[in-house]
Amino acid sequence: MKDQTKISFDNTEYAFAAKSDKELKQANFLFGMMGKAWLVNVGLKITPLAIQWGIPFTKTIIRKTIFRQFVGGETLEQTAKVADKLEAYKVQVILDYGVEGKEGEANFEHARDEFRRVIDYAATQPNIPFMSIKVTGFARFSLLEKLDTAMHKLPGTLMKRYLHAVESLSDAEKEEWHKVRLRTQQLCEVADKKNIGILIDAEETWIQDPVDALTILMMDVFNKKKAVIYNTIQLYRHDRLQFLKDSHTAATERNFIFGIKLVRGAYMEKERNRAAEMNYPSPIQPDKESCDRDFNASVEFCIEHLDKIAVIVASHNEYSNLYTTQLLDKKGLPHNHPHVHFSQLYGMSDNITFNLAKSGCSVSKYLPFGPIKDVIPYLMRRAQENSSVSGQTGRELMLIKKELHRRAGS
Ligand SMILES: Cc1cc2nc3c(=O)[nH]c(=O)nc-3n(C[C@H](O)[C@H](O)[C@H](O)COP(=O)(O)OP(=O)(O)OC[C@H]3O[C@@H](n4cnc5c(N)ncnc54)[C@H](O)[C@@H]3O)c2cc1C
Repeated sequence: MKDQTKISFDNTEYAFAAKSDKELKQANFLFGMMGKAWLVNVGLKITPLAIQWGIPFTKTIIRKTIFRQFVGGETLEQTAKVADKLEAYKVQVILDYGVEGKEGEANFEHARDEFRRVIDYAATQPNIPFMSIKVTGFARFSLLEKLDTAMHKLPGTLMKRYLHAVESLSDAEKEEWHKVRLRTQQLCEVADKKNIGILIDAEETWIQDPVDALTILMMDVFNKKKAVIYNTIQLYRHDRLQFLKDSHTAATERNFIFGIKLVRGAYMEKERNRAAEMNYPSPIQPDKESCDRDFNASVEFCIEHLDKIAVIVASHNEYSNLYTTQLLDKKGLPHNHPHVHFSQLYGMSDNITFNLAKSGCSVSKYLPFGPIKDVIPYLMRRAQENSSVSGQTGRELMLIKKELHRRAGS
């Protein structure tokens, strides 16, 4: 076995090598602002309204601050420049066309065409192995919700519940769902042909069951020899480690590769609030420790079953990333095993991404792009996630300041 480089996430010179002094100072300012919870709370309330009402300069301010930090550009062409820059540091890219919350068949068809354009583009690039999509980008949210509710009332396996739930739809809804399936299939066909992986994001629990079923149906067709399509498991849910094991069983029985992106989950407050309001048990783990325990146990399970599982460890948690590399070392597997990939969001945890890349891991930045008004929900989630001083922002700020200090002294 080749000697693996010892990994440390403390090297800020590697972490911020791609950032100029000016960009680093801008990031320092932005994370400093996001550390002020009151400011973020005000921003979360007024920004979507300011965009909706077309208040002058709103877009300019967003473009020059939070958008620049977390988004690749407004178009694929602008984003290509960011992807090229990352390529110089052996950092790969997961392209994410940021369309959220748009309804109507015309929008869904348009999103499908955009996704196809992204796949075509990715196939021409050396460092874009994946693109990510949200099923809500091309399916009506309330149709997914209806299917999910029907599935919850039925007994049996995921696939049995799914097939019965589809049968319970009206003729018009069946036709609508058929179109969703067709769009997914069309994207998988192109991705398969062009050798690009498609990652299906996980969203709210109350639409997730049909998304899981749809994804597994596609894996059964397209993942026979390689992982073309990946589902996402949110380990802040207390039932997902079991779901991972059940999916592995299905993959073994049906002989396909289970592609999976492991995340902790981005909708915790929304999930808890809805469960409390509607008086059902919260799907979220009782505490952070339980979430961490299941996340790391899922990594272990995947690394144990790499013959049938292709895993993407999508996390900013230093321990989970390091632990994954240690598990690979223990089994004598290379850090760039074809079924193991690491990923962090663009604009966050560069210390993890760039140091993993330096040590030879297959690692990417999840890089969203799209018109400002379309990526607002994504930006709001990033602002929220980064608003706790004890959490991500504290760490980001500390690292940025350390690097500014190092540069000033060198
Ligand atoms: C490449 C990539 C793709 C992603 N795709 C998705 C996606 O498809 N769907 C999605 O939902 N998210 C997605 N995310 C976002 C991801 O869920 C968040 O980045 C994540 O929540 C932050 O967790 P972490 O692993 O980085 O680490 P940490 O900072 O260690 O964990 C923070 C997370 O722990 C969980 N948590 C915190 N407190 C508690 C508690 N008291 N009880 C239970 N859990 C708790 C929450 O999920 C919180 O966000 C993605 C992230 C990346 C990097």
